[in-house]
Amino acid sequence: MIDFTLTDEQRLLEQSVREWAAREVAPFIRDHDRRHHFDRDRIVGGMAKLGLLGISVPAGYGGAGMDYISLGIASEELEYVDTSLRVIMSVHTGLNCLSLLTWGTEEQKQRYLVPQSEGAKLAGYGLTEPGAGSDVRALQTTAVRRGDRYVLTGEKSWISLANVADNFLVFAWTDLEKKQRRDPSGLSAFIVERTFKGFASGPMKEKWGILAGDTGWFTLDEVEVPEANLLGEPGEGFKIAMFALDQGRFTVAAGATGLVRACRDASVRYAKDRRTFGVEIGQHQLVKEMIAQMESDYEAARLLWLRAGWLKNEGQRNTKETGLAKWFATVASERAASDAVQIHGANGYSDEYPVGRFYRNCKAAVIYEGTREIHKLMQADYLLGYRTDRPTRRALPAYKQ
Ligand SMILES: Cc1cc2nc3c(=O)[nH]c(=O)nc-3n(C[C@H](O)[C@H](O)[C@H](O)COP(=O)(O)OP(=O)(O)OC[C@H]3O[C@@H](n4cnc5c(N)ncnc54)[C@H](O)[C@@H]3O)c2cc1C
Repeated sequence: MIDFTLTDEQRLLEQSVREWAAREVAPFIRDHDRRHHFDRDRIVGGMAKLGLLGISVPAGYGGAGMDYISLGIASEELEYVDTSLRVIMSVHTGLNCLSLLTWGTEEQKQRYLVPQSEGAKLAGYGLTEPGAGSDVRALQTTAVRRGDRYVLTGEKSWISLANVADNFLVFAWTDLEKKQRRDPSGLSAFIVERTFKGFASGPMKEKWGILAGDTGWFTLDEVEVPEANLLGEPGEGFKIAMFALDQGRFTVAAGATGLVRACRDASVRYAKDRRTFGVEIGQHQLVKEMIAQMESDYEAARLLWLRAGWLKNEGQRNTKETGLAKWFATVASERAASDAVQIHGANGYSDEYPVGRFYRNCKAAVIYEGTREIHKLMQADYLLGYRTDRPTRRALPAYKQ
């Protein structure tokens, strides 16, 4: 049976996150955005108190033990206020914590997952490099075995939380022959701490969106990583990277859905307030059309992420459904933000209203965690039979009440 009614627990979560973000973040976000300020104490501290940083991690590992629909609800509510908040859910909770939960050893879970879920440590995900985004096989970072350690050398760019996270999931080639042949079974995944010698980070300069969030680069200059920090087995890095994206994309999908809703609500408010030709602009059919499109996009995007979350709860593979939800919601959010600015006229073209910020923020999600084009190709390839999902050694744990 498919039931769209939220449980009492999910409803309470929705209300708590909504109230916290409206009270603690909304009044300050314009200023933080303008000053490019990542307010770690207020944002990360608040999210930790709400239990969001380990929301779908079992209580035994420091998490809140909630289901994956709850992860989507939190993401939607956070991005309703600002994309920078949802990005934390995507990289810390979605990409990193759920990967440790699924692929980590008991020792790795105790050492890294527990403090991350409790919010004592913040975590990121380092796949992209200056010469490798969509084309993961073009990565250049290497991890050479030396005794009981791996020595990592390389550079990662466009990494969310690069300057503030404590731990990173880093992908590197452990088989240099396979690197030459671009065979992804030569890639491995590592847990790297910021404090490891040879790690350095800095901001991406001139970034024009998600300004209240941190985005940067980091370099690994012969960073010695203990063998115990290898996540999964040698050669499983590509599978882990793709597994992580199934969870990250889910939060991006739900978040972009929240952004569509924010654009819709701001547009409705403005359309009732602004008058032209003697009537509220909401009376003009062409304005109604934009608002109606936002509503249909919101409802469709929400159903798509809910289905993906339901599949996760059931323990079923959902790469295709999650990818579709992410693609649809992010493209819809770009359309909604553009139309929200349009409805606001010149006022939309200033920071006096939030829709300009929504417009700047929405674009990145059409690029990260699989560009619009990569998602289109994926969906076509499933239909054409060029792509199928093979089982992996580990799968995201189903939700058990
Ligand atoms: C704000 C922000 C935060 C980010 N955070 C992270 C993070 O935390 N961790 C991380 O690892 N990465 C992160 N990224 C990086 C992001 O994942 C990459 O930017 C993304 O994968 C695209 O790679 P690219 O920028 O190199 O573009 P490219 O891969 O160079 O693509 C350029 C263009 O070519 C198109 N294209 C490429 N290949 C094909 C093809 N086969 N067919 C058709 N079109 C194609 C793309 O769709 C795109 O339009 C972030 C990016 C941004 C903007």
